[in-house]
Amino acid sequence: MDNSQIAKVFYQIAEFLEMKEENPFKIRAYEKAARTIESYSKPIMLFKSKEELEKIPGVGESIAEKIIEILNNGACRFLEELKEEFPPEILTLNEIPGLGPKKSLQLYKELKIKNIQDLEKSALSGKIRNLKGFGEKTESAILKGIELKKQYKGRLSIGTALPISLEIIESLKNKIKNLLISEAGSLRRRKDNIGDIDILASGDNNKLIIESFIKLPLVKELKVKGETKVSILTLDNLQVDLRVVEKESFGAALQYFTGSKQHNIELRQMAESKGFKINEYGIFKLKSNQKIAGAKEEEIYQVLGLPYIPPEIRETGEEIKIALKDQLPNLINLKDLKGDLHFHSNYSEGVNTLEEIAASGQEFGYNYIALTDHSQSLKVANGMPPEKLKEQIKKIRALNKKLKNFQILAGAEVDILIDGALDYPDNLLKELDLVVGSIHSHFKQDSALLTKRICKAMQNPYLNIIAHPSGRLLGEREELNLNWEEIFKTSAETNTALEINAYPQRLDLKDLYCREAKVYGCKFAVSTDSHNINSINSIKYGINVARRGWLEKTDVINTKSLKELLIWLKSKR
Ligand SMILES: [Zn+2]
Ligand SMILES: [Zn+2]
Repeated sequence: MDNSQIAKVFYQIAEFLEMKEENPFKIRAYEKAARTIESYSKPIMLFKSKEELEKIPGVGESIAEKIIEILNNGACRFLEELKEEFPPEILTLNEIPGLGPKKSLQLYKELKIKNIQDLEKSALSGKIRNLKGFGEKTESAILKGIELKKQYKGRLSIGTALPISLEIIESLKNKIKNLLISEAGSLRRRKDNIGDIDILASGDNNKLIIESFIKLPLVKELKVKGETKVSILTLDNLQVDLRVVEKESFGAALQYFTGSKQHNIELRQMAESKGFKINEYGIFKLKSNQKIAGAKEEEIYQVLGLPYIPPEIRETGEEIKIALKDQLPNLINLKDLKGDLHFHSNYSEGVNTLEEIAASGQEFGYNYIALTDHSQSLKVANGMPPEKLKEQIKKIRALNKKLKNFQILAGAEVDILIDGALDYPDNLLKELDLVVGSIHSHFKQDSALLTKRICKAMQNPYLNIIAHPSGRLLGEREELNLNWEEIFKTSAETNTALEINAYPQRLDLKDLYCREAKVYGCKFAVSTDSHNINSINSIKYGINVARRGWLEKTDVINTKSLKELLIWLKSKR
């Protein structure tokens, strides 16, 4: 039983309790525990006792007891009892944007809607708009949500795919000496959502690689087994394809199976024009068919007179022309980052104390982390009234005196209200080192109003970063309908950075927009939006996006030293 399966139990309990309109604090406690468990760095199943479990932040006695029960029996009696009170599929309704537990229950009670199919039928026949609290807009939002779900079916988020491929690669490396192994395909190009997990390997004994792979503990089912390719299903029902090739072709195969298709087409054309031929076995002289290289991927590019093109930007083929002119960007790396600029503590909806966050930032090798808890209007996320923020600022200043080579920046994630005003007065914002602004409500304003709202917020001299600018949630919520040109222009003019939110379901600003924004001269902040110190690692997903967006170190403000960053932040005031 892995952490996400345990977390799911608590998410479901929270949803059922919400349907039953139980105490909101109790509901929030279950949600918090679920989030903590989901992102916990160690497998929860290794914990042996209740007392050990209670040391995890957000896990109290009653939740610890339930975890033990789940680990022993594979199920939780409390959840099973709740399930009996409702139709079995009702929770799937909550996955549709705009629907929460209460609305789902209303749909069941008034229209006998039990699952997504019922929901779609009723929405199409216009029955939902007549319910109290729904209306025509909600009905069409429901249909859009169902559509989005269908589109994403079968697609995997990189946040799901990457950890699995890394686990497989690490396990095989530990078992087999001199192993060449890498993920390939869209996963290696670090796209935000991918089709299949493809892994490519080569070694002294390819048979042994295949045998070791299909015996890995995460394998549930062997689907296809050939001489050079096998497909398995993992315990979570994800398909992983492993292909083995000869060592002398590993580089060529890696290049070939990484794609993109368009990149490879254009590379092949270019090769031919220079008298070469490339395929998954190597690069050959066109006339004599003599193999020139293939063991290393870099060699393929080298022979063609190109610098190495990083997988993240192998997309449209345009990158090849730019590489020919030797104008490829020097892409940002994870090690360039000096800190994280969006982090929640237990002052709002995070689970950790300031001290814990500082310790984990130091351990990660950062020089700073900005605490950005929610502002007063965001009641669902325990937004802080001004007095509480002032208290937090004081505590941060005191803590900083005790820290060496590391500082917590006093910040806030301030809601951008419906008219573009910020959710705290300027004289309070002035006290902060950094302000992140975001939209968490009234998503459905028309494009012009939404754009104006964000641009007005950017004019505020204290606002430094727009968080998750497009508001998208992959597979759940489409991006806001914004006039991006206006947004990018204003961002550059006002010196307001755009966030690349690294949370795998957001990855917002997305890669294409990053590249476009850079042309306008925008700056960026790559941040995790962590609610738990265990998510500090997810920064890598943000770096992937930045790289796919052709960004360099100088484009990203949290590559600056603390001193430089503070100067940059103040320069807007
Ligand atoms: Zn937010
Ligand atoms: Zn946040």
